[in-house]
Amino acid sequence: MAHLQRVGFTQDFQVLKPKPIPDQRILAAHDPAHLDFLLASQPEDGILPLDPDTWMSPASLSAAKLAAGAVFAGMDCVLNGPEQRVFCAVRPPGHHAERASAMGFCLLNSVAIAAIAALDHRDVNRVAILDFDVHHGNGTVDICRHRPEILVCSSFQHPYYPNRLDDLDQVNIVNTPLQAGSDGSVFRAAIERDWLRAIEAHQPDIIFVSAGFDAHTRDPLADLHLVEDDYRWVTDFIVAMANQYAQGRIVSTLEGGYDLDALAGSALAHLSALA
Ligand SMILES: [Zn+2]
Repeated sequence: MAHLQRVGFTQDFQVLKPKPIPDQRILAAHDPAHLDFLLASQPEDGILPLDPDTWMSPASLSAAKLAAGAVFAGMDCVLNGPEQRVFCAVRPPGHHAERASAMGFCLLNSVAIAAIAALDHRDVNRVAILDFDVHHGNGTVDICRHRPEILVCSSFQHPYYPNRLDDLDQVNIVNTPLQAGSDGSVFRAAIERDWLRAIEAHQPDIIFVSAGFDAHTRDPLADLHLVEDDYRWVTDFIVAMANQYAQGRIVSTLEGGYDLDALAGSALAHLSALA
């Protein structure tokens, strides 16, 4: 947000504040026991681990509900309001949260919750979720695998965390594994090879993006070598798909990205292409 303010981006575009996602929207994507578990796990002070990666503070569940609420509000803006594209600058991320479990810093799967909610809209019969985070979007796949109206395309370093649900072979789940050390040219060729045909066949009415920027070459968590220009390229690709099939409608949400300078520059490249 500081970088977007510094370069004047936030002056040119509207910045909205989200409301928490209602529980019934969470329960359309997650098991009721999962929400009960998160409520019961909330510490009164300090921080407590749900697993070695995923910790909760007294404010974590509120933050996760606001993050999911932002993606939901973005979807509502794009389908019912004046906007064509929305980016949600939120944390925590969501794409590792499965139907019944929190993992990988993720408590609620914001993008899956909003994608399922979008299907309630009269103009929406099919949805696509495109995930270029360096980690596989296992939670999104888990929640959407039995919903053929949702296409999930995920590119990810492989083999690598989370090593779950990355070998499903079904029409609405497109997995694009990339070897450690792959650079932008490998990434671009794989996206064109795997995603283009799947999106053309699915013809989504709205596109959601799980925009993680941890495949950046400077990111400390993984070993792919993307740069800002690769994020501009993949966003241009997504915009072209949205313009062709989805009346230009895109709701993008932040997932990973752990080198703050690389995150800021990559998010700006993504936003500039969306704009
Ligand atoms: Zn990630």
